[in-house]
Amino acid sequence: MKVLVINTGSSSLRYQLIDTEKDYVLAKGLCERIGIEGPFLKHVVEEDEILIECEMGTHRQALERVLETIIYTEPAPIKSLDEIDAIGHRIVHGGEYFTDAVLIDETVKEHIAECAKLAPLHNPSHLMAIEGCEELMPGKPQVAVFDTAFHQTMPPMAYMYAIPYEYYDKHKVRKYGFHGTSHKYVARRAAEMIGKPIEELKIITCHLGNGASVTAIKNGKSIDTSMGFTPLAGLVMGSRSGNIDPAIVSYIAENENITATEVTEILNKKSGLLAISGISNDIRDIEKAMDEGNERAKRAYDTFAYRVRLYIGQYSASLGGIDVLVFTAGIGENSARMRKKMVEGLEYIGIKIDDEKNQVHGVEADISADDSKVKTLVIPTNEELMIAEDTERIVKKELLKKQNK
Ligand code: AMP
Repeated sequence: MKVLVINTGSSSLRYQLIDTEKDYVLAKGLCERIGIEGPFLKHVVEEDEILIECEMGTHRQALERVLETIIYTEPAPIKSLDEIDAIGHRIVHGGEYFTDAVLIDETVKEHIAECAKLAPLHNPSHLMAIEGCEELMPGKPQVAVFDTAFHQTMPPMAYMYAIPYEYYDKHKVRKYGFHGTSHKYVARRAAEMIGKPIEELKIITCHLGNGASVTAIKNGKSIDTSMGFTPLAGLVMGSRSGNIDPAIVSYIAENENITATEVTEILNKKSGLLAISGISNDIRDIEKAMDEGNERAKRAYDTFAYRVRLYIGQYSASLGGIDVLVFTAGIGENSARMRKKMVEGLEYIGIKIDDEKNQVHGVEADISADDSKVKTLVIPTNEELMIAEDTERIVKKELLKKQNK
């Protein structure tokens, strides 16, 4: 099946055309600066990369440019849009409505629109892309794959906040968790790599990129995760604070004479590694500064690693032990030094990595020491492939349903 995967942000649109039979990316690219000055489209087919500067005032226009580029730019992987079998959309927030990917219909669109309250930067742009596809490729099956769906298996004790119950009833304030597609993908790959059924494993997955989260997975299901009502919670991230004492928000607001909304903006954009180091949100810059003796860089680095270590400890308690630990995303896949730092002192729960095996970057690897009880794996994430596979699964399931009617 040829699936067009679409991932929109507030001013961006990423795409991949994937042949699911061959697990092969036929074309990929991204549109940036949609609706602002200087929009451009970067399109890649095999090794060929082209940059196109063109008018893209809306996500709908960006989508038109993408579809034209895919079929008319040589080498063209397909000659007509008819060759696309289905479209898979990454949707950031599905609230409590969706526990799996779904075929998009009017009700699904209404639910995505309702969840825009919870993800104001993302869900509206997802809807624009869905409606754009409806108009430009009428009748083509479209599937929504939610970042939140994988975590809908969490029990209430993991997702309830101890605040007045009416906020949950009225405003849906609870933990949702994010990065679900990535956690699901690497957990599944981990089970395949060690040759055991996922249903028999206790897995902790650490998605550590600019945004970062840890998930506890029991028998293939998410039972807890570090992000919360929003992607601001949990770990220390590039520019996000992660967990802090909630009273800090009003304290800073009063003392700096700013609003709570402004404090939240600071916690999202001016905190995390960037704030503690005073240098950068990028772990590579921080590692370099540490080597030059910068004390704040070291503090930022140690705080990041310590928070991850705490979550691994917490989640081994939630799971009642741990069989597999997985590192993925920019930092998890690439920084051997950070991986070593994060698992320091975790021998007591059976995690021991091999320094030599740990020297890997961006490839699948088992980095566990020979005598380690826990398997520690590095697995590059592939959210687009997971979305394409989910799309294929849902479309085939719906076809079967129709045939059996
Ligand atoms: P992501 O959000 O998954 O793209 O991850 C982005 C982050 O990964 C960057 O901010 C870096 O901190 C980190 N990263 C990417 N490449 C490397 C690398 N080669 N070594 C260490 N960290 C890296």
